[in-house]
Amino acid sequence: MRINDFLITYDNSLLEVLEAIDRSGMGLAILVDAEGKFIRTVTDGDVRRLMINYPEKENNLQKLQEIKSIYATENENNLSLITKMKENDIQHLPILNSELRPVDVVLRKNIESPIFLSSPHIGDNEIQFVNEAFDTNWIAPLGPNVEMFEKEFAEKVGCKYALSLSSGTAALHLAMIALNVGRDDIVFCSSLTFVASANPILYQGATPVFIDSEPETWNMSPPALARALEKYEKLGKKPKAVVIVNLYGQSANMNELMAICDTYGVPVIEDAAESLGATYKGQSSGTFGCLGIYSFNGNKIITTSGGGMLVSDDKKLIDHARFLSTQAKDPANYYLHTQIGYNYRMSNILAGVGRGQLMVLDERVKTRRKIFQMYQEAFNGSDLFEWMPEPEGYYSTRWLTCALLKTKNISPDQILNLSTRRGIEIRRIWKPLHTQPLFQGVNYFSHDETLSFSDHVFERGICLPSGLNMTITDIKRVIELFSGILH
Ligand SMILES: *Cc1c(COP(=O)(O)O)cnc(C)c1O
Repeated sequence: MRINDFLITYDNSLLEVLEAIDRSGMGLAILVDAEGKFIRTVTDGDVRRLMINYPEKENNLQKLQEIKSIYATENENNLSLITKMKENDIQHLPILNSELRPVDVVLRKNIESPIFLSSPHIGDNEIQFVNEAFDTNWIAPLGPNVEMFEKEFAEKVGCKYALSLSSGTAALHLAMIALNVGRDDIVFCSSLTFVASANPILYQGATPVFIDSEPETWNMSPPALARALEKYEKLGKKPKAVVIVNLYGQSANMNELMAICDTYGVPVIEDAAESLGATYKGQSSGTFGCLGIYSFNGNKIITTSGGGMLVSDDKKLIDHARFLSTQAKDPANYYLHTQIGYNYRMSNILAGVGRGQLMVLDERVKTRRKIFQMYQEAFNGSDLFEWMPEPEGYYSTRWLTCALLKTKNISPDQILNLSTRRGIEIRRIWKPLHTQPLFQGVNYFSHDETLSFSDHVFERGICLPSGLNMTITDIKRVIELFSGILH
């Protein structure tokens, strides 16, 4: 649907008006004046009444009744649009720019049934585990669901120990402490990520250094990491840890990155908050570093509404983190404390939700991949998208379908404006952390001297709706949005 296809003026014949209405596919055309400014909408019914009320010679648009057509301006939000449509009992609303020229038409049915980026999806098993928790009065942040969730999770990803926590951020924080990250320490971290990856570095009073992504995986660039380690080695400041993030459902190049870190003897924390279910050369994402973290926040591939997991093959690290996660209570028959503790445990109720969700992880990965495939096929051969790559040996969950816009004719911002008015939630890619005001002045190592790849991804990238609740009709709606943009 392109707005210019159904703009009409007083000069158009009624047949031409009907043709415009037909082209719009929405049962209306938009009448504009000689300068292209909005006058009113015209429907089939308006044309019918003109034909009935006026003898043939006179039945032209000039005879249209003067009405005050309802419209909205470009900067109105969806709540304001829906309110206008409800108050006036109308199904469409023309959107005008500041010069009062029509730029779009909003359909009430689209705004009333929004398509979300990635909404939580609860299956059939969760309630059973939650009921068990209630029935047996295990409502505390410990209990059988917690123990079983940790055991089942460790088995699923193929690591020895797992600790369920109140969030992925808590898991990262405890990982920092377990590796003795403290004041004046340096921690390297991927730049292209959610701020939660780096905040725990600040909690510990340490200083982050950000590392760019590579085009092959969108994750940490091995050459940039190598340059950074070399530079800091020369300065005599070895980082305490490297946080490698696995973005949007895909592992980083773990072989190369681990080899580089091993050379310098720096431990790796893998932030696999977005990549549960992904593998790299057959091994689960999140199990390469000495510690790995996952998130069960509402929008992640499985959710406990809020929660996280810390994993490791090193029993000492997990035991220490477990101790800190429950207020660091020393063994005694009274309350004895020698260290700072935290209240970071997951409740037995939420662990029940997690157990149910974990059972359907593989299915969910398949569905997310299928959604990606539908997008990919719809735009096969078009010049619109450059999809996030999935190199050989990588198995991505396609948690979110992500792409760079190839055409320079449209920006991610413009797409967000359009999609919001169609009730479609599209998001931009994470803004690289080295460009965040919070981290002003922090050191950054780009992929190479000429290319900061994370900046490029931010400038051109978008995430498409990829939720498991999406119907085929929803996916078609998203595809139609972009087909419209393509023309
Ligand atoms: C969601 C997320 C986190 C934080 O997880 P929470 O459970 O929300 O605290 C950390 N890192 C990345 C990359 C994430 O996407």
